[in-house]
Amino acid sequence: MRSQLSFIGRVVCSLYVLLLFGHSVSIAAEKYDLKGTVKGIDDKVNVELAGTKKDDKTNRNGEFKLNNVLEGEYTLQVIDEMTIAIGEPRYYQQNYSYLILGKDRAILLDTGPGLRDIRAVVDSLTKLPVTAVSSHLHYDHIGNHDRFDQVAMVDLPGTRNRMSSGEFSPAYSEHLGFLEGIEKPSFRVSQWWLSQQKIDLGGRIITVISAPGHTPESIVLLDEERDLLFSGDFIYEGQLLLVLPGSNLDQYHESAQKLLEVVSDNTLILGAHRWQASSGAPVMGYEDLAALTQSLAKIRTSELERQGFILNTYPVNSRMEIIVY
Ligand SMILES: [Zn+2]
Repeated sequence: MRSQLSFIGRVVCSLYVLLLFGHSVSIAAEKYDLKGTVKGIDDKVNVELAGTKKDDKTNRNGEFKLNNVLEGEYTLQVIDEMTIAIGEPRYYQQNYSYLILGKDRAILLDTGPGLRDIRAVVDSLTKLPVTAVSSHLHYDHIGNHDRFDQVAMVDLPGTRNRMSSGEFSPAYSEHLGFLEGIEKPSFRVSQWWLSQQKIDLGGRIITVISAPGHTPESIVLLDEERDLLFSGDFIYEGQLLLVLPGSNLDQYHESAQKLLEVVSDNTLILGAHRWQASSGAPVMGYEDLAALTQSLAKIRTSELERQGFILNTYPVNSRMEIIVY
C-alpha cells in the first residue's frame, strides 16, 4: 500500500547550524556568523538553538542570525519539529543519526562511530527518556550505544539468544570496527523490538521494519503519519554496499520491494550517510527507492552491466550506485 498522507506539520528544513559539543576540539577556534530562515507551514516556528546563548531564537518571520559561532563536531538539521538529524561532518563517512521525538519518549536511531560523544548532543536537545537503537550492527552505527541507559535491538533468531550476562556484543564480522581500529563494544539491551512492532512514543507511532540486504539484522523505522522513513544503510546518497559479510542480493531486492509498498511520493527517506559533495541530511525520495529496487532486480537477472574490476559497481541513478564483488 502506498500511503497518500499529506505533509501535515512538516517544517521545511532550512535550519542548518554547526554547533559545538564535547571537549576535544583541537583546531584553532575559527568562528563563523550564521544566518538563515526556518519555515513552517503554520508560520509559528520558534527554534532555540542548543549550545548558543539563551536568547538566540528565530524571530517572528523565522529568521535567525548568530554571531561568532564556533565550528562544531556535529551538525543539527531540523527535519520537522519532532525530528532532528544529527550529522558528523568531521567523520569521513559523514554519518547521520536521527533523534525521533514523541511526547513521552524518544528514539535515537544510530549512535555513530563513537569517536565523539553523541549523548551530550542528545541531552542538550531533549529531556525525554531516549532509547538508542541501531539500523544495524556496523561499527559506525553503534559506537555510542554504551553511553545510553536504554538500548533496543531487533528481535531476530540469532540476536536475542546471544546475550551474555545481560549484554550483547556483535561478532567481528558484524561489527567490522577492525577496519578503522575501533574496538568491538558490549552494551546492555533493555528492549527487543520485533519487525512490524509499533513503538508508541506518545502521540507518535514508529513502526520497526526488518530490511535485510546490506546486513541480515538491518532495520528501518517508519513514521507513517509524518511520512518519514529512516533507512539506515539500506538506502542513502552514494555507494551502497552489497559486499560485506551478511550482505545478500536476493534479500536486498525483496526488502526494497517491501519498502516501496510503505512509502509514497511524499515520503522523506532519511539515510545514514551523506554524499561528500552534498550538504545537509541525506534525504532521498520514492523515485530513489524505486530506482534502487529496479537496479537490484536487474542485477539478480544479470540485465545490468557491471563496471569496474575487483569491486564491481552497478549504477542506480545520479545519486547512487551499488558495490558488489
Ligand atoms: Zn553499514
